[in-house]
Amino acid sequence: MSDEKYKGNGRKGNGKALPRVGVFVCHCGTNIAGTVDVAKVVAYAATLPGVVVAKEHKYMCSDPGQSMIQQDIEEHKLDRVVVSSCSPLMHESTFRGTVADAGLNQFLFQMANIREQCSWVHEDRQLATQKAMKLVRAAVARVIHHTPLEIKTVPVNPATLIVGGGIAGIEAALALGKAGHPVYLVEREASIGGKMAQFDKTFPTLDCSACILTPKMVSTAKNKNVTLFTFSEVEEVSGYVGNFKVKIRKKPRMVDVDACINCGSCWQNCPASIAPTSRRIKIGDRVIKERVGHMPVTPIAAGGGKDG
Ligand code: SF4
Ligand code: SF4
Repeated sequence: MSDEKYKGNGRKGNGKALPRVGVFVCHCGTNIAGTVDVAKVVAYAATLPGVVVAKEHKYMCSDPGQSMIQQDIEEHKLDRVVVSSCSPLMHESTFRGTVADAGLNQFLFQMANIREQCSWVHEDRQLATQKAMKLVRAAVARVIHHTPLEIKTVPVNPATLIVGGGIAGIEAALALGKAGHPVYLVEREASIGGKMAQFDKTFPTLDCSACILTPKMVSTAKNKNVTLFTFSEVEEVSGYVGNFKVKIRKKPRMVDVDACINCGSCWQNCPASIAPTSRRIKIGDRVIKERVGHMPVTPIAAGGGKDG
């Protein structure tokens, strides 16, 4: 964004008065100040449109550093704050709390990371200082556009959709089901089990795959909190976090799933040439041709459960 339109009259292009921005640049001991010329960054920040105060502190996250920000919010009637220091992961919540305690909406705040993104990754002092100045300028330009936000709490539907009934999906379904949450496990093949069901042994212990997997498949099918959708695919997902709606397409079973005992006779004697007898499976660079069992209708290969 160009700063040009803000110059001259201290007003935005739309005629509204600019917010009053305070910029606070941290030394972090020598972590930042050892590579970046902090005084130069502060002097530059003071010239940016909207900035009414720019200061430095040796440790901005310390109590004296935070108090300085709060005093300046009051004294200079700041309605935006930029802290130029470390990663937001480290201290964004700290400084949001600082400005909130001073009566400012916590989201009228922006961090510029001149430590991890600048002093810690550059050696040339001059170039690092120039980059820090650019990061501060970007943060000031951005914070001007911030609007006050509120944190809302909304009810969350704990029901969970798991797509893919391989060992990871099975483990997730079992853990969530055990925790008492409703789980919908969708698997596009006729059986859950995934790739692990195709292996003989597991690395590195060379344990029998089926010995590990099949009890989990049976537990999944028997878990009252888990609804299985085998031979099914997710068609549509709508909604938002905590309140999704999902459309699942169940492919036709052709037979009475409740009555089927998995004997395989129908598959072996099926006259329809369209029924696949094998399928190609890609594992890494290898393509394996696997004979398909009597699966179009099978709820789960391990038996012991019917899908939803
Ligand atoms: S705010 Fe971040 S950069 Fe500044 S002293 Fe604290 S940890 Fe270091
Ligand atoms: S596998 Fe086929 S023949 Fe055997 S019980 Fe099921 S539907 Fe009937």
